[in-house]
Amino acid sequence: ALAVPDKRVDSVCPYCGVGCQLTYNVKDNKIAFVEGRDGPANHARLCVKGRYGFDYAHHPHRLTVPLIRRADAPPKRGDFVMDPERVMEVFREASWDEALALAGGTLAAIRDTRGGRALAGFGSAKGSNEEAYLFQKLVRTGFGSNNVDHCTRLCHASSVAALLEGIGSGAVSNPVMDVTRAEVVIVIGANPTVNHPVAATWIKNAIGNGTKLVVIDPRRSELARSAHRYLQFKPDTDVALLNAMMHVIVAEGLVDREFIAGRTIGYAELEANVAGYSPELMAPICGIDADTIRYVARLYATSKASMILWGMGISQHIHGTDNARCLIALALMTGQIGRPGTGLHPLRGQNNVQGASDAGLIPMMFPDYQRVDNPAARAKFEQAWGATLDDRPGLTVVEIMHAIKRGEIRGMYIMGENPAMSDPDANHARESLAALEHLVVQDIFLTETAYLADVILPASAFPEKTGSFTNTDRLVQIGRQALEPPGQARQDLWIIEQMAVRLGLNWAYTHVSQVFDEMRRTMPSIGGITWERLERENAVTYPCTQEGDPGTPVVFTETFPRESGRARFVPADIIPADERPDAEYPMVLITGRQLEHWHTGSMTRRSAALDAIEPDPVALVHPLDLAALGGRPGDVVTLASRRGQVVLYARADDSSPRGAIFVPFCYYEAAINKLTNAALDPFGKIPEFKYCAVRVKLG
Ligand code: SF4
Repeated sequence: ALAVPDKRVDSVCPYCGVGCQLTYNVKDNKIAFVEGRDGPANHARLCVKGRYGFDYAHHPHRLTVPLIRRADAPPKRGDFVMDPERVMEVFREASWDEALALAGGTLAAIRDTRGGRALAGFGSAKGSNEEAYLFQKLVRTGFGSNNVDHCTRLCHASSVAALLEGIGSGAVSNPVMDVTRAEVVIVIGANPTVNHPVAATWIKNAIGNGTKLVVIDPRRSELARSAHRYLQFKPDTDVALLNAMMHVIVAEGLVDREFIAGRTIGYAELEANVAGYSPELMAPICGIDADTIRYVARLYATSKASMILWGMGISQHIHGTDNARCLIALALMTGQIGRPGTGLHPLRGQNNVQGASDAGLIPMMFPDYQRVDNPAARAKFEQAWGATLDDRPGLTVVEIMHAIKRGEIRGMYIMGENPAMSDPDANHARESLAALEHLVVQDIFLTETAYLADVILPASAFPEKTGSFTNTDRLVQIGRQALEPPGQARQDLWIIEQMAVRLGLNWAYTHVSQVFDEMRRTMPSIGGITWERLERENAVTYPCTQEGDPGTPVVFTETFPRESGRARFVPADIIPADERPDAEYPMVLITGRQLEHWHTGSMTRRSAALDAIEPDPVALVHPLDLAALGGRPGDVVTLASRRGQVVLYARADDSSPRGAIFVPFCYYEAAINKLTNAALDPFGKIPEFKYCAVRVKLG
């Protein structure tokens, strides 16, 4: 029989950056079912994760009591197999007082003996804005360094670097819904049907109303079937293809001279650079014929309103920043930005990766992208926080792992992230985590990272707390508490504050709204959003600088937030992937996500309906490549790179080009990031998840 809920709580989805509003129907402190709400981003639509991915919150693996590593626990090792059932062989239960005293006290001792730069923190893109803000404030004022980062470094750091450099803001220019106002939509390096499913439905609605969709991707996504044109270019040749498109636009006089003259700088250098990238020269490099390049370039440049959406196929390369620079240049040279139905939209992955970045959970910026090495910005936050702040940008995610290996970082506090699964070259990352003198992990499950901790602090799941979250559209929304945390698990804000107190900070926040109020005092972009307004309206789009300001869904209508008010062209040239296929490792590995599973799988693999659909680790191999191996769908294969190997099931899939294998990164028993390459884009410091050399064999 259907459960009759005893309460209904309006909130937002905990998974992707689309930010669908939903209602939890709760019975006996358990979510019975979920319904879509009429929010600005979803209008009551939900995908399979939002609708069915909620029972992780009730899973028996939930951490319900603080844990301390046993004195007689086996030595930490990076190559463990996680077994949450055997947690008590490694950890013992502790009171909150004991756990916090050990966690905070040990980190404070490292700070006092070795300095604040010997500590680092990873916050979470799945936590609220308030949690992100307090976490980075704790690292900056309690540790005394800027060594704070989160998974934005692994998804859109290169996009943000290019956007800040080119147009002065790292966020999107137009909301997803603007696809319904566009004549032409380009989706490049993204698979919205899988990763932003409700956004994909808006794109399909737009196509139904006459919008022309161009999908550009080495993997043929489901959306490509609905496309006006699909360009299956060769992996790693983004700059070649995009520069060739710009070459056509220049050569055929399709640039917007007025826009370029009035609103940009650096066009002459861009034009000179793309002169060497004719479609005929680039066609054999990128695998797209010259006529198609010309057609798509004209289509984009000459439409009344063209919009570009992109994902990690663009960003997760050592040339990710260059890829994004090309997309920005395309929009600027054609004036396809600053109006409804145009613009640039890097689709954000996690539900709050935009908000966490805005709130300062990045090593080089205070909240609202105010640089830590800018004396005026630093003085502002020193006054606001009553602390002396480090003037040197901190280390990024992968840099922190290397710094641990070098002995420079000795202690870490990780809240709600799972670098043992999500970092590139995961064996190296696990060895680094295992080598820390002291690791504190705050999470809801015994993740692969928590297994390596000295102290584990049991935290609250998404429906167990109230906070604000910022979606991919810059829409600040409120998520409300529907459940009580289980056992002794506590809300994350409380835990961060308790850690701050143990580090000597005099914090006394009693309500999430106090944190939000402090944020809006230091972050001009949200200065006009009050907590009361959020509670009343549920969603407000920033920039919203004054109370009464309705919010700003479309930005750059008149000026760009750079010193000159003008956007900047930055030319890019072809840089090959760090690790190319060779005789020993002849194939290319591409990693990503599946519709049913979210990132490292800690939530969705504990959601019964989702796990039932995709229960086992799979490698998606082209049917001809599989046949060449002598294999059949369902066979066990071993995939190896220079850094590690995993064993998983082969699935025949002709959406990838021959020679390329796609593997989701959510399966701990086949953690594919053991194989990926930690080589970094020099600007965004993002690793090259989308390209490394591998070999595959049966068995
Ligand atoms: Fe949740 Fe994203 Fe699905 Fe919406 S599209 S229900 S936000 S996972």
